[in-house]
Amino acid sequence: MDEIVVNQQLDAKVESPSELKDTLRNLDKEIDRLTELNPKLFDKLLKKFEEYQNQINQWGHTEKNGELDDKQADLLTQIKHDFLDLYHDLVRFQRLNSDYQDAKGKVIFDIGNNPIAEKLAAKEGAHTFESRLLAQDAAIFEKYAEFARANPAFLKFGNALYYGTPASEDNPAHAYTQIENIEELDLPANLMIPHEQMRKANTAAHELYLEYCRQHNLDPKKQVAFVPSEQFSFGGHAGIEDRETREDTWHTYVVVETDKSGNGMKFVNQENGKAYYIPPYITALHETGHVQRYKMFQKRGESPPNGINEIAQVITAVINMDHVYKKINNLALDMTVEYPKNLPSDKKDGIHLGLLANTFRELLKKHGTIEAALMSKEGQTFVFSYYDNAVKRPHEISINSI
Ligand SMILES: [Zn+2]
Repeated sequence: MDEIVVNQQLDAKVESPSELKDTLRNLDKEIDRLTELNPKLFDKLLKKFEEYQNQINQWGHTEKNGELDDKQADLLTQIKHDFLDLYHDLVRFQRLNSDYQDAKGKVIFDIGNNPIAEKLAAKEGAHTFESRLLAQDAAIFEKYAEFARANPAFLKFGNALYYGTPASEDNPAHAYTQIENIEELDLPANLMIPHEQMRKANTAAHELYLEYCRQHNLDPKKQVAFVPSEQFSFGGHAGIEDRETREDTWHTYVVVETDKSGNGMKFVNQENGKAYYIPPYITALHETGHVQRYKMFQKRGESPPNGINEIAQVITAVINMDHVYKKINNLALDMTVEYPKNLPSDKKDGIHLGLLANTFRELLKKHGTIEAALMSKEGQTFVFSYYDNAVKRPHEISINSI
C-alpha cells in the first residue's frame, strides 16, 4: 500500500514549483514508513530526487533572471528548504534501512544483493578486499586468542574492560543485560571524559582519527559511516559479510551511530551523578580496530568471546581517551590521571585506568600491537598482578566443597 502510494507520486510529472511542493508534501507523509519499503523503491526515490534537484536548480536560474514573481520566488525558497529536509530524512532512513536497523545487535549485512547497500559500500564505512586495514592484525589476534584461552587471567581482564566485571560473559550479572538506558552503563572505560568537555573532546578525537588515517594511508572519509540515529542505543558496529566466499562481493562494514547533531555517547556515573562522554571518532577507532583483525571470509559469529575479541579495542579506546583528556586539559602525556572508577580485578583495589593507559601506550610503542603488548613479558606481569590465572576444574571445586 505505502509502496504504491510512493510509486504513484514518483511517476507523476512535476512541472511547476507548486506541483513539486505538493509532491514533496505527499512524500513527506509516507517517508516515515519508508524503512519498511524495499531497496528498489529507495533507489527510485533517490534517482527521482536527483531529478527534482535539477528541476529546482533550473527554476532557480529562472528566478535569477527575474521571470518569477515574488510569490513564486518565496515558494521556491520554501521548496528548497523542504526538499533538503526531506532528502536528509531519506538518506538517514536509507542508511538505517540497510539491514543494520536492528540496533540491538541482530545485524545482517546483505551487501551483495542489496543495491542500496552496494551504493553505500562504494562510499563510507565499507571495507572490501582492497581495504588497507582488513586483516592486517588478524594473525597476531589469532595467536592472542589462543593464548587468552589458555590464560584465564587475560579473559578476566578483557571481561572487566568490556563488561565491567572479570566474570565470564555468560554470567547473567554482566552489565549489558541489566541496562536499558545506555546512560546508566557506567563502565570504568566510559567515565573518562567529562561530558561538559564534549566539543573540545570531539576535536581532539578527530585529530587522533586523522593521525591514524595518515599512519595507515587511508582516506578518512571512507573508513566509517556515521549515522545519526533516533534510538542511539549502541555506539558502533563492524559487521561482516561472507557472500559465497567470492572476493568481489565480500565486505565488512563500519557504522558509528551518533545523536542527531553528530555527537557521541553520554554516560552517567551512577555513584556521583556526573556525566561523561565518548566522542564518535573514539568509537570509530574501536570499530576500525575490529576490521584490522578480521580474516578474509570470516563469518559473523566466528569470533572468540568478547572478553578476547574486544580487549585490544577497549585498551586502545582507554589510551585514546586518556590522550584526549590530557590534550583538552593541557596535561603532559606521561602524567597519570585519576579517573573516577577503577577497573575491577581479583587483586589490589582494581586497575587505575590512568596507569593502564600509560602502561599500554608505552608497550604498544615497543611491541607494535596491543596483542603483542599483552603477551610480552611486561604485559603478562601487569595482567597477572591484577588477575588470578588459576583454572578451577570441576572436580577440584567438588572436592573443596566436601
Ligand atoms: Zn567492539
